[in-house]
Amino acid sequence: MNELWSDCIRGLEAYTPGEQPSIAQLIKLNTNENPYPPSPAVLSALQSAVNANLRLYPDPDGKALKQTIADMLGMTRDNIFLGNGSDEVLAHAFLALLKHERPILFPDITYSFYPIYCGLYAIQFETIALDSAFQIDLRDYMRPNGGIVLANPNAPTGVALDLSQVRSLLEQCRDSVVVVDEAYVDFGAESAAALIKDYPNLLVIQTLSKSRSLAGLRVGFAIGDRNLVEALELVKGCFNSYPLDRLALAGAEAALRDTAYFDKTRHQVIDSRDKLEAELKTLGFEVLPSKANFLFARHPSHRGQALQQQLRHKQILVRHFSKPRIADFLRISVGTPGECDALVGALREILQS
Ligand code: PMP
Repeated sequence: MNELWSDCIRGLEAYTPGEQPSIAQLIKLNTNENPYPPSPAVLSALQSAVNANLRLYPDPDGKALKQTIADMLGMTRDNIFLGNGSDEVLAHAFLALLKHERPILFPDITYSFYPIYCGLYAIQFETIALDSAFQIDLRDYMRPNGGIVLANPNAPTGVALDLSQVRSLLEQCRDSVVVVDEAYVDFGAESAAALIKDYPNLLVIQTLSKSRSLAGLRVGFAIGDRNLVEALELVKGCFNSYPLDRLALAGAEAALRDTAYFDKTRHQVIDSRDKLEAELKTLGFEVLPSKANFLFARHPSHRGQALQQQLRHKQILVRHFSKPRIADFLRISVGTPGECDALVGALREILQS
């Protein structure tokens, strides 16, 4: 039936999200969700929003939510763009800001959605190899480009650049857009949002899916100079006027306001990550230094895919990528202390058998 398809979608490759199993009792450490529930304030805001007003469209501009984010960051509403998860924000950014004569640049090992957007929108790109320690070497990006996209912390490595490094990149790259995808920034990295006033070509993208435990609600946002936001709004306005429904708007606002819960749960995740890192090292794993809510680890004498499958037999899901350079790594989302203990116990058994 391919003749019924538009030419431009033939041969497109789609992103493969991590498995969302229907089996209960699995320990799910494969999609970097937060192991803790959303704030109770979010649940009650959602319940209050379930009312007769659902017959009405939501605010297409999400003004109240934008204002909450702007206040949090000391910016104004026209510096904020909202989307249905940060994936949608990224998609609009690729089309609105990154399609130029010159190829855009991003690392060879990074969020695998970036080349997918390039495929969808016919954007030229070049990947730049991470160094042998799986770090980004910013000197490699100091060349003419159509834009730069960096995840910070990077995914799936978890390795972060510090703010001075991002600033030095921006100093060198003033003529094209630099997108910093901060999906995991709240677990210990430094946000580049503070640099926006100095660099009108910087777009920072964040999500409520990870540190606010709201992957199921689908809320992401971008922060940038109003000129960049205007371009995003233009694309959004040609695509979907209401990407955030009434529940998403209400829940997101409540989540952002409950800073005490946010701080408590993200520090619990950080503590569990650091403990898990030490335990994996004791088992002989090499673990990359992570500032995210996941660890990227490989064992010198066990293949990544075999380990993933053996863990699955023990009802534990982790993510494995059959890709050059990283095929022996497992990406392990940080769970509750009990889930991390179960993972370490299962790995110990596998390694001993
Ligand atoms: N950026 C990175 C680096 C991610 O890992 C993810 C999660 N898969 C996203 C963006 C998108 O997250 P969401 O759409 O849930 O905001």
